[in-house]
Amino acid sequence: MLPGSILADANQRLEQALKYTSISDDAVETLKFPQTSLTVSIPVRMDNGTLKIFQGYRVRYDDTRGPGKGGVRYHPHVSLDEVQSLAFWMTFKCAALNLPFGGAKGGITVNPKELSRMELERLSRGYIDAIADFIGPDVDILAPDVYTNAMIMGWMMDQYSIIKRQICPAVVTGKPVSMGGSLGREAATAMGAFFVIEATLPKFDRHPSNTTVAVQGFGNAGAILAELLFRAGYKVVAVSDSQGGIYSKNGLDIPSLRQFKDASRGVKALYCDSTVCHTAAEEVLTNAELLALDVDILVPAALENQITEANADTIRAKLIYEVANGPITSAADRILTDKGIYVFPDILVNAGGVTVSYFEWVQNRSGLYWTLAEINQRLKLRIVEEAESIWLVARDLSIDLRTAAYVHALTRLGEAISAKGTRDYYLNGH
Ligand code: NAD
Repeated sequence: MLPGSILADANQRLEQALKYTSISDDAVETLKFPQTSLTVSIPVRMDNGTLKIFQGYRVRYDDTRGPGKGGVRYHPHVSLDEVQSLAFWMTFKCAALNLPFGGAKGGITVNPKELSRMELERLSRGYIDAIADFIGPDVDILAPDVYTNAMIMGWMMDQYSIIKRQICPAVVTGKPVSMGGSLGREAATAMGAFFVIEATLPKFDRHPSNTTVAVQGFGNAGAILAELLFRAGYKVVAVSDSQGGIYSKNGLDIPSLRQFKDASRGVKALYCDSTVCHTAAEEVLTNAELLALDVDILVPAALENQITEANADTIRAKLIYEVANGPITSAADRILTDKGIYVFPDILVNAGGVTVSYFEWVQNRSGLYWTLAEINQRLKLRIVEEAESIWLVARDLSIDLRTAAYVHALTRLGEAISAKGTRDYYLNGH
């Protein structure tokens, strides 16, 4: 593990939590390293006839508690280090939510916005060809992440089924509903975050009507959460995406913004070169300005490493709910804690996605499909219960919520690793 890597930073959370748990040294050693990391080269015939090779990754961090589970990210900055860190977070997230899965993640270094739909399909099917021996419904299950969606999951499931010569819906979650996807999966991450906010806000004597919110990242997770909060009476004063953000002190009309963004299919149209900005009297602001707004709730819902040592001091929000994975570095964590800011961590707040993925996997395997109401009810029950447990761990040990979430997850992981043993056969002469 390279010093300065994202994984090294993620491991600091483990070190911090270890001070408050008594799991075995063997379990600690096991959890410091990813179990298996696969790097593949994916050849894709581009529309203009040329051949292009893309780098893809799949990492299984730990599968002691069950098959690997984790999304696939398409982004120009995807690297093995990033994928390993995301797999690390998935391991702790699944344990924190008590899902019968280990942690995994995948990714391709690509800017999907530069590919045609056919190129994207060839790339996605090529990725599955390359990693097919490494995944499976009982081995490692894929899902969407940044810049991947239900359509891509459908291609991936179909390609895996072609290779196996049988229909294998449970190898991928987040599929189109028509291909065995679960109702509620698309909104699940946002819905889970919404349930966590609703369950914990009263602890701070706050109510939706007097609570302002800023959301960084207006994609699948951030935009749906912004709309859920808007509809519940919160004042969402700022949202942003990769190109910048908008602010209105009276609150933004989130459903209109979502409609507008969907219709324009581009993010640029959200900003002041568009009529929406002028008519709604919104101000344009940068992502740095959005993060520093004086709001009650800040929701980072874009990418990792957005709040670092360099800008943590500028943060004025009272509560942060991390919808993105790893948006705050460990150094920034310490600064925010010293400032008295409560950070509800990613491994709890964004776990709605993997929880409903779990429900999708269960439905695929049982062949019995649940209603949307059933899914949301089961999600709420589970995520609120785990949020409450983490809150109590933090209170009882007088520690921050992130460390508490890791302690909570580590206890389960430590028990499982001790129960299974570390498979160091040769040392013991087996
Ligand atoms: P998405 O691709 O749908 O949206 C990402 C959004 O972030 C886009 O609006 C993009 O323009 C914006 N963005 C990118 N770079 C930015 C920047 N520098 N500043 C501001 N905005 C920026 O992705 P998503 O599925 O919504 O995922 C967002 C985050 O949530 C990721 O960290 C992802 O790992 C995490 N997450 C997503 C899910 C899920 O089910 N979708 C589940 C768990 C965690």
